[in-house]
Amino acid sequence: MIKKILVANRGEIAIRVMRSCREMGIKSVAVFSEADRTSMHVRYADEAYFIGPAPSNESYLVIDNIIEVARKSGADAIHPGYGFLSENAAFSERCEKEGILFIGPTAYAINTMGDKITARKKMQSANVPVVPGTIEPITDLDEAVETIKGIGLPVMIKASAGGGGKGMRLVSKEEDIVPSVSSAKSEAKASFGNDAVYIEKYINSPHHIEFQILADKHGNCIHLFERECSVQRRHQKVVEETPSPIMTPEVRSEMGKHAVAAAKAVDYAGAGTIEFIVDDDLNYYFLEMNTRLQVEHPITERVVSVDLVKEQIKIAAGEVLQLKQDKLQQNGHAIEVRIYAEDPDNNFMPSPGLIQHISEPLGPGVRHDGYVYEGYEIPMYYDPMISKLIVWAPTRPEAIERMKRALYAYKITGIKTSIPFLNRIMEVPSFIQGKYNTHIIQDNQEYLRRKENKSQKLKDIVAIAAFVDYLKKLEKHEKPIAENNNGSNWKNCGRKKNLVRL
Ligand code: ADP
Ligand code: ADP
Ligand code: MG
Repeated sequence: MIKKILVANRGEIAIRVMRSCREMGIKSVAVFSEADRTSMHVRYADEAYFIGPAPSNESYLVIDNIIEVARKSGADAIHPGYGFLSENAAFSERCEKEGILFIGPTAYAINTMGDKITARKKMQSANVPVVPGTIEPITDLDEAVETIKGIGLPVMIKASAGGGGKGMRLVSKEEDIVPSVSSAKSEAKASFGNDAVYIEKYINSPHHIEFQILADKHGNCIHLFERECSVQRRHQKVVEETPSPIMTPEVRSEMGKHAVAAAKAVDYAGAGTIEFIVDDDLNYYFLEMNTRLQVEHPITERVVSVDLVKEQIKIAAGEVLQLKQDKLQQNGHAIEVRIYAEDPDNNFMPSPGLIQHISEPLGPGVRHDGYVYEGYEIPMYYDPMISKLIVWAPTRPEAIERMKRALYAYKITGIKTSIPFLNRIMEVPSFIQGKYNTHIIQDNQEYLRRKENKSQKLKDIVAIAAFVDYLKKLEKHEKPIAENNNGSNWKNCGRKKNLVRL
């Protein structure tokens, strides 16, 4: 029986995990860095312990500190969330050695799937289709050029240890091969401390479709259908939905079987995701496995009616999976958008800072997994994602309308967020039609920009109106109020003479 879980993470995912703990009568333990003293996950937990300075490699990534808190607090299990230590084999192993349950897979499964070259070999032997390409790291540049010519351009050069869209290069021209291999290698070395890169054929008109799987420690493994994650920017997901608008029942069932076979090939236990790249003809290829809970897990939870965190906890405790493949079905349609503290109109620059005001969307079919509150200052040290907004409706068109309504109601001031950009995506014709691939953002830049221009035009009109007003007041010898007086508008409104009307 698990009585107390340490959540080795921060922000929205820490709270997400603790919510399930609370519903299961399990106590939760938070850990926090210097920069997170005021974070909501600290307040939400039953107990909270300080683990070090703000940089994550001095706090959230220090295995010894986390184990020490587990000991001190008497936690019998650790949930790693996503990111940080969630795909760290040494951490899984250490927990096992210390007699603390790791709510995630074994070190063997993490190691095998965490290294993309090893995973490709494993999948080939399990008869899971992989993207055509190499299964050995590139060692010789001339050889690489020949191999790529054999595969045919375009190709992707990818870091074996890659994650988060890093260490990846699309190569379309022969003369770009050598510089792309070099830059992928150095990025991989800097990000992952491992410069092994390999070659994959670039799948044209790519769709990212992944399958959620759950496996217990007794050999039972099921899939919980797919998630469509093709709305991407720089190979990173921005919007996710389920079911996929391009899926057919036949392909779904075939891909689901391959996803289960992939997990079984590494004796997987826990929740995991098998990512596939799919072309327009629904040919699909294994991309990678994420051996953890995924950011976009709530859309599956909503459509399949399951709590994936509770399932993870039950599996870790050794329970037999009660969900049966033939009893599961997809009900309705769910969409998730990732809300980032960044400025979409200024090249997505991070926008940490003080939240002056926040109104979260509510109402039918809306779920909001966040952690920021009014008066909270978003630290600059961590991932800029502040929340996930998930909507559900019986049909896809209704879900899109619901998302627009929820985004409209979502107000945050003090920082810039990706909300306006997400709103525009909901209006892109190919998104509305469900006929899009991973190029959707790139292909619709003009459309998205036109929307920006529209709002710019509005700003221009307001500025011109203010200027005209200014001139009129000068004519009348009235002292105009500076537009940005930083003073109280209530006070100004009280002074009738100075009232500015725009
Ligand atoms: P998902 O498929 O769940 O969207 P992402 O690739 O967006 O996964 O990663 C989720 C989180 O994990 C992000 O915060 C990202 O920064 C982090 N992450 C992903 N891969 C790695 C890695 N190899 N090393 C460190 N952090 C990673
Ligand atoms: P990461 O570990 O960084 O998540 P993935 O291998 O999952 O890396 O790839 C991330 C994204 O990059 C995919 O969702 C897809 O958009 C793109 N991508 C990766 N490999 C290919 C490929 N062979 N062909 C086309 N697109 C690809
Ligand atoms: Mg991936």
